[in-house]
Amino acid sequence: MLLFWFRRDLRLHDNAGLFHALTSGKLVLPLFILDSAILDKLENGKDARVTFIYNTLLELHRKLEAQGSTLLVRHGKPLEVFKELMQKYNVEAIYTNRDYEPYARHRDQEIARLAQQQGVAFQSFKDQVIMEPGEIMTLGGTPYKVYTPFKNAWKKAFTPTLAASYPTHTHFGHFYQHPKTPIPALQDVGFALSDLLVPRADFSANTLQAYEQTRNLPAKNATSHLGPHLRFGTVSVREAVRAALEHSDVWLQELIWREFFLQLLFHFPESAAVSFAPKFRHIVWRNNEEEFEKWCEGKTGFPLVDAGMRELNATGFMHNRVRMVVASFLVKDLLIDWRWGEAFFAEKLLDYDMASNVGNWQWAAGTGADAQPYFRIFNPTSQAAKFDPEQAYIKRWVPEFGTAAYPQPMVDHSMARDRAVAAYKKAIALT
Ligand code: FAD
Repeated sequence: MLLFWFRRDLRLHDNAGLFHALTSGKLVLPLFILDSAILDKLENGKDARVTFIYNTLLELHRKLEAQGSTLLVRHGKPLEVFKELMQKYNVEAIYTNRDYEPYARHRDQEIARLAQQQGVAFQSFKDQVIMEPGEIMTLGGTPYKVYTPFKNAWKKAFTPTLAASYPTHTHFGHFYQHPKTPIPALQDVGFALSDLLVPRADFSANTLQAYEQTRNLPAKNATSHLGPHLRFGTVSVREAVRAALEHSDVWLQELIWREFFLQLLFHFPESAAVSFAPKFRHIVWRNNEEEFEKWCEGKTGFPLVDAGMRELNATGFMHNRVRMVVASFLVKDLLIDWRWGEAFFAEKLLDYDMASNVGNWQWAAGTGADAQPYFRIFNPTSQAAKFDPEQAYIKRWVPEFGTAAYPQPMVDHSMARDRAVAAYKKAIALT
């Protein structure tokens, strides 16, 4: 029998690893592990992402029971779980889809070692991306550090078969028949159900055809909300890419940004912890905690920044244009370390993804591999005038804007701008 280990690919349809498992000639028993090493790090007992995973597991469980099989759900450390399962079942192989984050790579190496010791095959597959780390390299054989040439190489290497769907459903007869097994309650693993829901993804023809025109307008809420679905695999990236190819090259480029940052973190895992460019590792941040609090709560006195932070706190989402503005404000106007902002987003974003979050924060901070120049500093007031001209987004999230109850700007933008440029220049001079 073969164990198929679900992780960031929570769907039965168009799933590369599951397809290979079902066509391997062995009977397939699906497994998901509520990994205590990940869950224990989440402080909030009501994490919307855990709720989303849990609800998705319930759905998978229901569908697999309809096939006479089940979804085994275990809570604990993966190594211990596999030791238990290898004793209980006659496991001949473990199949899974590759996960490229630093923790996941380490975990998978451990499981592969255990499997090898027990004479069990361990096989992993590409599913999360079209081009995985190592597939798109410069002519010199090094990883790309700049997006545009990466994008061009990605497009050149692309062929339609890379986005073809895996017809898993025609092989559902190969699931291991198993007695019904209940899933542990979320409370048993220390979490309560959150009432924050992950919105459905929308990459319909209408949405994508309007995307180029509307994508920068936060009031329109006209983006796909695909993020959490790619994060947890409830939508296949191949399906998204096929829609992009048909309807919007601009949207395709966004999906390529995701793969660009993914390979960047894979090749340079240290960039999650330090500024990519060594010359910016010596910036003397102000790191004022009270100011940080105001930013987190959306009380800076800059309405676009406040609207964005309040949207994030209330929904777990923030529009991309506003993410860029709030990030620039934190790092440049307040001179607070980008890692503080990155950590706050990591806690709040439903679409949190380490590679994209770190990559985009370093882009906004000007410290990244392919970053905006450090002296290009967003003006939060003119960004609001340009991208929310009728203040519809601001009024939605900051109803007291324009009244006496709304705070004065917490900092003078032009003073802060000069202060930031000076701090960056000083860091450069030190190297
Ligand atoms: P759409 O605009 O519909 O785009 C479709 C998909 O393309 C997204 O779901 C995402 O997978 C990908 N994409 C779009 N823009 C980017 C980008 N700049 N970088 C990487 N992938 C992109 N995105 C995350 O998925 N997770 C994060 O943790 C994250 N943190 C960010 C932090 C900052 C400071 C900034 C400026 C951006 C961040 N982004 C992150 C990128 C982007 O803001 C979101 O992907 C996007 O807003 C999600 O909305 P959507 O799904 O409606 O995207």
